[in-house]
Amino acid sequence: MNCYLCAIEAQQRESTQGGKVVVCRDCGEYLISDVVIRQLPSKPLNFSRMREDLHRQRQSNATSMAQINSETAVWA
Ligand SMILES: [Zn+2]
Repeated sequence: MNCYLCAIEAQQRESTQGGKVVVCRDCGEYLISDVVIRQLPSKPLNFSRMREDLHRQRQSNATSMAQINSETAVWA
């Protein structure tokens, strides 16, 4: 599959918490929720601001994976 943010080739696996874990060499590792994945076709993410937010999440909470969910999603 391709990364939901930058659209380059990325690895993906199912998450035990629901949603998908994406490992992208550009965007890093993040968890994206099923709800957000369903919204993507009609509502694209703001790529640069979303990447900044993932970066901020990693800095403020190094123990859990950066997440794109209904609360953290930055829409274009
Ligand atoms: Zn990416």
